[in-house]
Amino acid sequence: MLTKQERRNFVEKESEDSRIVCGASNCVWWDHISNASRVKSLGRDMMSCPHCGNVSLMSFKNEKEWWAVVDKRASTVTEDYRAFIEWIRGKCYPSIAVAKKAWEDRLHVN
Ligand SMILES: [Zn+2]
Repeated sequence: MLTKQERRNFVEKESEDSRIVCGASNCVWWDHISNASRVKSLGRDMMSCPHCGNVSLMSFKNEKEWWAVVDKRASTVTEDYRAFIEWIRGKCYPSIAVAKKAWEDRLHVN
């Protein structure tokens, strides 16, 4: 049986493991924290994009919080925004504009 404190620690650990990480600048990669890479930067262990090594990342508590932010933004931009964000998951592009171009090119392949 876990004590109240142990249970709280466990829950906190769980929620930490649920974090979603995305590029704050340099690239637009986003994914579950377990898919992030680790690099040494200024002697510290930093999370990084697994493709380009970008360490300028933001994290969200969990996927629910991430999608809430995406959906809020989706309501102010194009109707395909959420599908676009789903599509770029795990992909690395230097900017949203470049990612958008790749997304649109992909739609026009057929
Ligand atoms: Zn990247």
